[in-house]
Amino acid sequence: MLFPATVAGSLPKPSWLAEPDKLWPQWRLQGADLAQGKLDATLLALKLQEDAGLDIVGDGEQSRQHFVHGFLEFVDGIDFAHKVEMGIRGDRYKAMVPVVNGALTLKGRVHQTEAKFARAHTRKQLKITLPGPMTISDTVADSHYGDKIKMAMAFADLLNKEARALEADGVDVIQFDEPAFNVFMGEVSGWGIEALHRAIDGLKCTTAVHICYGYGIKANIDWKNSLGTEWKQYEEIFPALAKSRINQISIEAINSRVPLKLMSLLEGKDILVGVIDVANDTVETPEQIVQVIGEVMKFVPKERIVACTNCGMAPMHRDVAEAKLVALGKGVALARETYA
Ligand code: ZN
Repeated sequence: MLFPATVAGSLPKPSWLAEPDKLWPQWRLQGADLAQGKLDATLLALKLQEDAGLDIVGDGEQSRQHFVHGFLEFVDGIDFAHKVEMGIRGDRYKAMVPVVNGALTLKGRVHQTEAKFARAHTRKQLKITLPGPMTISDTVADSHYGDKIKMAMAFADLLNKEARALEADGVDVIQFDEPAFNVFMGEVSGWGIEALHRAIDGLKCTTAVHICYGYGIKANIDWKNSLGTEWKQYEEIFPALAKSRINQISIEAINSRVPLKLMSLLEGKDILVGVIDVANDTVETPEQIVQVIGEVMKFVPKERIVACTNCGMAPMHRDVAEAKLVALGKGVALARETYA
């Protein structure tokens, strides 16, 4: 089937579960109610994706508060009680970050509950996302390893352990989110991909990496405005990604200043093409989606195009995100007729 449809990862959480419209919401339930509420929201997320006609569905990241910290919560060797201020993403933002103060180990399974639950409730292909090792290492301070790369490799080993277990749970696609890949371009080919290879070691399921220019928050918008009219950061990293063992690359396309021709540097990879903008509330028309896919087809064989969102939708209004899921389903249906 041409143009299978999927989402980058997160969907907004229902307001009975967590504060709406926030990237970092507080939970509104506690204890056993929270655990049950996360699964109820997962079921809702699956149903909405299926009804919209998506082909590869996910848990909508309903069980985690934040895409990096949802993983870190399950890691021993990190001090969350004494956070320090650090410039992250090449000093684009200041953030209070936890400190690695001992050898990193997993406390247990990270996403088993929601992955098994999602597997039991959908026959579609199932995707689960994890933060990438480079992005995690850029979101914590280190007072133990004394070397960013050594620490990233330690995180990659933990990610690999969880990824192998997710595969055994019946997950079809495991995606690593690496927004740090377009900040530390020189380091991606140096050790970023090596760390990803460690994270996917031994996996037989489909593997993906999501790279991105970030959500529509102010620090990101200011940074994007400083990058000029054509965003060519990917020119440096795509050739290395093309040689990697990762199967799929997820990148933004609609309303993006990334020149689409750069996608031709990713020969041999499936491309998750962002045809849904997550930084504005205007719902795309099917015709717009068909047009973006048509543009990408100049550089990527159509068999390798997967239709996706530009990024996660966690901080969006729920009704807008739902309308955008429906638009995605309608857009790929029209694209299949148009480009059959
Ligand atoms: Zn993203």
